[in-house]
Amino acid sequence: MNFDDYRGIWVFLEEKDGEVAQVSLELLGAGKLLAEKRKTELAGVLIGDNVRLLARTAFEYGADKVYVFDDPIYRFYRTETFMKAMLACVEKHKPEILLYGATSTGKDLASAVATDLPTGLTADTTQLDVEEDTGLLLASRPAFGGNIMATILCKKYRPQMATVRPKVMKALIRDRDAKGELIEESIPITEADIRTKVLEIVRSTTQRVRIDEADIIVAGGKGLGGPAGFQTIQRLADTLGAAVGASRDVVEAGWIGHHHQVGQTGVTVTPKIYFAIGISGAIQHIVGMQNSGLIIAINKDPAAPIFQSSHYGIVGDALTIVPMLTEAFQIALG
Ligand code: FAD
Repeated sequence: MNFDDYRGIWVFLEEKDGEVAQVSLELLGAGKLLAEKRKTELAGVLIGDNVRLLARTAFEYGADKVYVFDDPIYRFYRTETFMKAMLACVEKHKPEILLYGATSTGKDLASAVATDLPTGLTADTTQLDVEEDTGLLLASRPAFGGNIMATILCKKYRPQMATVRPKVMKALIRDRDAKGELIEESIPITEADIRTKVLEIVRSTTQRVRIDEADIIVAGGKGLGGPAGFQTIQRLADTLGAAVGASRDVVEAGWIGHHHQVGQTGVTVTPKIYFAIGISGAIQHIVGMQNSGLIIAINKDPAAPIFQSSHYGIVGDALTIVPMLTEAFQIALG
């Protein structure tokens, strides 16, 4: 494998509800820094049906080039179709580094591509850097229960691939005048070649709270004592128009669903305000919320580690304090 054949930093541009997904914009921001260090170009790969126009968004957020596979066959994400497109593009243009968002689509595609290419994949990265002279990607992620950061290298193969958690990298400020090069790509593929068919998309009927998009999160832990205690934070959240978050122990106890879990094995969140109520502050929880704007902890133990990661702390029984707060906010907010 001749490393000199591999050039450029690539980002898989995920489409979500007709837009480029926020995580892809964040990766363009991170990718730009890597590209500048390596004095190379930043490119996006866009796969979908009627997605050509989205290339413009990618240029405005830093991409120099976008490779576009635009065909009705890519209307819905399917591992097989997207994988074939990505593999063809990688084999043809040979990127040095290829980044994907650690979303369900990004993780699925990255792992499928990694099974076919003779290279590695670092999953769930939270820090990225590159060695200027060698081009070696330094992909870091929490390891051993979040107690250390491991930096993982792929020394012998190219491209170097990583999935990156949403909300940890910063998107560039949008430059509406930015231009780039759109490169149309296609592969010979027909429906008959594909083993999976999408028959119907059924949207979830339960009202799912998007903690990754909320401005305010009221999160509860085992200190709330049980499902009934946990309801008290739901009322506070409703009053504030907030989403409900949870520690892993609460999710494992079955008090609330997994998509509410904040932390290393849950969602990384950066709301403007984060309430941590009856949560001890284990490192695996902290890594998922430490970049919140304002962190307010309520815990009956004054020595609870959560207070070290909070801007404000209230020491006391959450089951007494939370209803008082809810009432005070109800009055204040009318
Ligand atoms: P506890 O640690 O039991 O803390 C309860 C807290 O409530 C205590 O501080 C106590 O003082 C306080 N309290 C008790 N009663 C009251 C009261 N009446 N009023 C106020 N305060 C009260 N955890 C996550 O959250 N997210 C993750 O993604 C995650 N990933 C993990 C991955 C791995 C590989 C491992 C090993 C662990 C992971 N964990 C994760 C688990 C984590 O280590 C902790 O066990 C968990 O966060 C603890 O949850 P907790 O704070 O709700 O419970």
